[in-house]
Amino acid sequence: MGQDHFSAQKRSSGGGGGAVGLPTTTANGRAGRQTLSRGRQIQKTFNNIKITILCGFVTILVLRGTIGVGNLGSSDADVVNQNLIEETNRILAEIRSDNDPNDPEDPAESEINPNVTYTLGPKISNWDQDRKAWLLQNNEFPSHVKGKPRILLVTGSPPKPCDNAIGDHFLLKSIKNKIDYCRIHGIEIVYNMAHLDKELAGYWAKLPLLRKLMLSHPEVEWIWWMDSDAMFTDMVFELPVTKYDNYNMVVHGYPDLMFNQKSWIALNTGSFLFRNCQWSLDLLDAWAPMGPKGPIREEAGKILTANLKGRPAFEADDQSALIYLLLSQKDQWMDKVFLENQYYLHGYWAGLVDRYEEMMEKYHPGLGDERWPFVTHFVGCKPCGSYGDYPVERCLKSMERAFNFADNQVLKLYGFGHRGLLSPKIKRIRNETATPLEFVDQFDIRRPVLGKSGSQN
Ligand code: UDP
Ligand code: MN
Repeated sequence: MGQDHFSAQKRSSGGGGGAVGLPTTTANGRAGRQTLSRGRQIQKTFNNIKITILCGFVTILVLRGTIGVGNLGSSDADVVNQNLIEETNRILAEIRSDNDPNDPEDPAESEINPNVTYTLGPKISNWDQDRKAWLLQNNEFPSHVKGKPRILLVTGSPPKPCDNAIGDHFLLKSIKNKIDYCRIHGIEIVYNMAHLDKELAGYWAKLPLLRKLMLSHPEVEWIWWMDSDAMFTDMVFELPVTKYDNYNMVVHGYPDLMFNQKSWIALNTGSFLFRNCQWSLDLLDAWAPMGPKGPIREEAGKILTANLKGRPAFEADDQSALIYLLLSQKDQWMDKVFLENQYYLHGYWAGLVDRYEEMMEKYHPGLGDERWPFVTHFVGCKPCGSYGDYPVERCLKSMERAFNFADNQVLKLYGFGHRGLLSPKIKRIRNETATPLEFVDQFDIRRPVLGKSGSQN
């Protein structure tokens, strides 16, 4: 209706414009041809006035027909707003509800048998050879491009809208941040909102997804999972991939916390990489059985809390389950797991977000560590859920700061920057030039900045 209203207005003002335009044409005509008699001029003006009145009348008729009588005036906007709110709420309720009246299979959920170990799918045992043969046959999809392994960044969020609109806004900012990083560094990106396996909803959803992506994209060498509540805060830093040549999994973590303290935060699964290989499929298979929601996840949670230092009592989460697996089967897995802590593949937000100004003053992007963290992860903030472990204002403010801190590095390419780390408004940081190519290399974020001193501005 809003659209009709608008086009009706446009149409009628166009018509009116035509009518009002007539005297102008006459005036122009007059300017061109001075020979018109005064009588004819008066006659013409009179005709124009008649046409104008007629057009006005038609306009009113069209408007009445389109938006109805009684909808005119200031209460009109209120009615439209009210309708919009009601319609939005209706659609939200529909999306949030689990029933789909149009899906005949919907109510028939397969019950999981607790006596049978859960699997992610049919056992695959020859992936390395099969993938190698596929790569040989498909030269157009090489696993390495310009000498670098092909990397696919994977992230995602729940299928339903967040509990609060600000949560969805934050998800948008977070994916914008990842698209920027991936675009700058030639990394492919996948955003998933589907639960590929109903049993593994929530933080476990990444497991079936990673498996599916490995199998569907044999050309991808490394699959990199990143949580939706994690953002790149160093837009220049690149993964030191050659360091991982002999490894199949890279995850931020500390060997001491892991093997001496058995801490439940010894590593973090908010940002980690898997090589596309048989070993990774096997690890996913070994990792998944604690995941099925309901009694299995609940019972597994008790085992994890009993065995991991500092873990509160709650259902099994993917991170604790991985730590437990790597601890209990250390010999089987650890020689191919790289616990990275030289830079922030995952950086815990609470210790970082208040130091951004200091970082900008002293350092520059490209460092990736505590001087300029590669990734800032809002663990415990649950921006898309109703409650987290921290006050919501603190989380939102901190996420905004992290986003703008990163966005400044992107905007700098184009000569802009945020007015402040909490401001969506931007300012120009350098003058326009008539010879932009002279400076294009200087501002290209992909050129190494290491060795440059001073702040980034
Ligand atoms: N996630 C998802 N689908 C879901 C729920 C969660 O893809 O239905 C992803 C999302 O990217 C989220 C991640 O799983 O960031 C892990 O959850 P969260 O970040 O809330 O856990 P935390 O890092 O706080 O432990
Ligand atoms: Mn997270």
